[in-house]
Amino acid sequence: MEADVAMYASKAEGQNRLHVFEPGLLLIRRLRSQLLEDLRAAIKGNGLVLHYQPVVELGTGRIEGVEALIRWDHATRGRIMPDEFIPLAEEAGLISELGLWVLNTAVGQLRAWIDADVVDSRFSVRINISATDLQSLQFIEDVRAVLKETGVRPEQVVLELTEAAIVRGNDLDRYSLGGLRGLGVGIEIDDFGTGYSSISYLRRLPVDRVKVDRSLIEGLGTDPSQPALVAAILQLVRACGLEAVWEGVETGEQAEHLRNLGCLSAQGYFFSKPVPPERIPALLAETSSESNRG
Ligand code: C2E
Ligand code: MG
Ligand code: MG
Repeated sequence: MEADVAMYASKAEGQNRLHVFEPGLLLIRRLRSQLLEDLRAAIKGNGLVLHYQPVVELGTGRIEGVEALIRWDHATRGRIMPDEFIPLAEEAGLISELGLWVLNTAVGQLRAWIDADVVDSRFSVRINISATDLQSLQFIEDVRAVLKETGVRPEQVVLELTEAAIVRGNDLDRYSLGGLRGLGVGIEIDDFGTGYSSISYLRRLPVDRVKVDRSLIEGLGTDPSQPALVAAILQLVRACGLEAVWEGVETGEQAEHLRNLGCLSAQGYFFSKPVPPERIPALLAETSSESNRG
């Protein structure tokens, strides 16, 4: 709750909605700086965890990979979700450090799964990266380093970038994307369909997949005009030479519609919520025996 207030204050202050001398704000500022101190400590020590959500091949039910999603288990405030603390980390200049932690942890986890024979060489881990990462040439070096250290094949790592992050971008973005692509990692545009990017611009970017935002499939199963829209999006994505992953699938009916429309991959609560890494082996075992049976 206090965390909410502190986050809200930082937003409101940014928009100049609150007057800086309001007494309540002093308290809020103190909370916020405390929270930042805690976050700094969490990045260095512990408290941050990655959960992993399966990405499923619609035709077979096979888990083709997972997306790493960060959570912060705060000693006194409990679990804090990324939508709450990522903006704070961005503002406070902590996002690069946080991003590096996520990169190393997720690729390290993939290495551990490979070593334990839990996953095969087609399995990929998706990692969300921030606009700031894209603006830093150091990030390319960090990706190169973790691939070298772990010996993980670059094709097994997919970086997710929001459309908004890329569209705000400049030549440096294009350069970084090219550099990352050169390392052989996959690049995916996240929350596709929520930004206002021009299709012609997207076409020129070195990316290979888009992850369609869940708002675009919400009406599947209830709104009769929705399948035609999904089919049109799929066609558009493919015409750009890309493939789509559909996110936010919550019902069997939505999954069925997507499959019938020819969509290949999806992710959502219907298949699995994001889970701690120790639950992934059991999920993989379950779905591989199911897809063998059926
Ligand atoms: P995202 O990358 O678009 O991730 C998908 C979000 O949708 C996740 O929320 C996930 O838990 C949620 N989700 C998955 N399936 C369903 C579903 O069927 N229904 C609904 N309603 N929601 C679903 P989460 O984990 O709270 O993450 C929110 C956002 O925070 C992510 O959106 C991503 O932009 C950002 N984020 C998460 N982890 C990281 C990270 O390590 N680094 C950075 N830079 N950003 C991260
Ligand atoms: Mg994502
Ligand atoms: Mg998304």
